[in-house]
Amino acid sequence: MEGRGPTSSIEQVARSKLAELEAATLRRALSETGRGEAGQATRDERQMISFCCNDYLGLSQHPDVKRAASEAIKQFGAGAGASRLVTGNHPFYDDLEIRLARLKGTEAALVFGSGYLANLGIPPVLAGKGDLILADELSHASMRAGIQASPAESRFFRHNDIEDCRRILQKERCNFRHCLIMTEGIFSMDGDRAPLADLCDLAETFDAWLMTDDAHGLGVVGDGRGSAAEAGVGARIPLQMGTLSKAVGSYGGFICASQPVIDLLINRARSLIYATGLPPAVVAASCTALEIIEADLELTRLPMARARRFTQQVGLPDPESTIVPLVVGTAEKALAASHQLAEEGFLVTAIRPPTVPEGTARLRFTFAAYHSDKDVDRLAVAVRKTGFLP
Ligand SMILES: *Cc1c(COP(=O)(O)O)cnc(C)c1O
Repeated sequence: MEGRGPTSSIEQVARSKLAELEAATLRRALSETGRGEAGQATRDERQMISFCCNDYLGLSQHPDVKRAASEAIKQFGAGAGASRLVTGNHPFYDDLEIRLARLKGTEAALVFGSGYLANLGIPPVLAGKGDLILADELSHASMRAGIQASPAESRFFRHNDIEDCRRILQKERCNFRHCLIMTEGIFSMDGDRAPLADLCDLAETFDAWLMTDDAHGLGVVGDGRGSAAEAGVGARIPLQMGTLSKAVGSYGGFICASQPVIDLLINRARSLIYATGLPPAVVAASCTALEIIEADLELTRLPMARARRFTQQVGLPDPESTIVPLVVGTAEKALAASHQLAEEGFLVTAIRPPTVPEGTARLRFTFAAYHSDKDVDRLAVAVRKTGFLP
């Protein structure tokens, strides 16, 4: 149609941007996926076993978790009705925040609408003009969003390179009032762990505040308490952020910190203040899931055991987490490998730039409690067949 003015130009722009992505094999699309118990996933009418969910403990499908959610709906309805500061602070929040603080060994905790919203909202509250934010270069997109939202200056140190971090602090720390250091406990696309004990030392030496994003540690390392507990530094990290959307099997984000920090965030974090509270069912599900994580240490150890079995079978280095990447290079190769595995009944999505750096497109395997040894062994055979192993 001619002459639709703004509509036609916006469509032209959209089409040409999509064509660019298409040409670079970077165009993405949503695929309807049905998830069931034991890692079952249905896509394009094909039944597969998923090795790319972050539901490490299978708690999204746990009968007690599902029951807690449906009872919460019966009691309080489907939605929260308003932001937490208005009328959205329903009774499950308090229980959840007490549990989170206990698990992380901090005085208090605060639940946000998602991990992304937590990372978006927290840095601008803690670091402003005249302050420095220093972050690992592979920090998650949501952390970068929070860093960009802050008027503080930012620097990035080389991935997990404690000496590079020290060098920047030595050179720059004195030019700034406060300094916030941000990293991931376990890196979401590489599965490796940050040197948390060394980072704690550095932060203390340079009077900086360490904030960790432990999205992939909670529930699966450190007896379920996460990577700070695993590294033996739990209480030394003053700002411990995480998500309820992965091993907890529900939805939401959180930060564990001291009471004054939490109180300040309640007053200042825009992504908390101006967003509606989580649905009661979601918060109730998280409470029950955390109860299971605290009680069932055996369960929390299963995903790591599966990951180890896999790396042993395919001859990769021992895993540091439940995430095992297989870097294949180009986006085309990653897609081809993913399709090959789908033919064998395994759902492993290809991870492409900009989620990972250019030239490092990969398969990202995640291992979960519900995978059987047989599933893992069959996957290892299929992965060997792809020819992408080093
Ligand atoms: C998934 C993830 C987030 C976002 O959490 P959501 O609750 O899904 O919004 C933040 N940081 C890291 C490292 C993640 O992997």
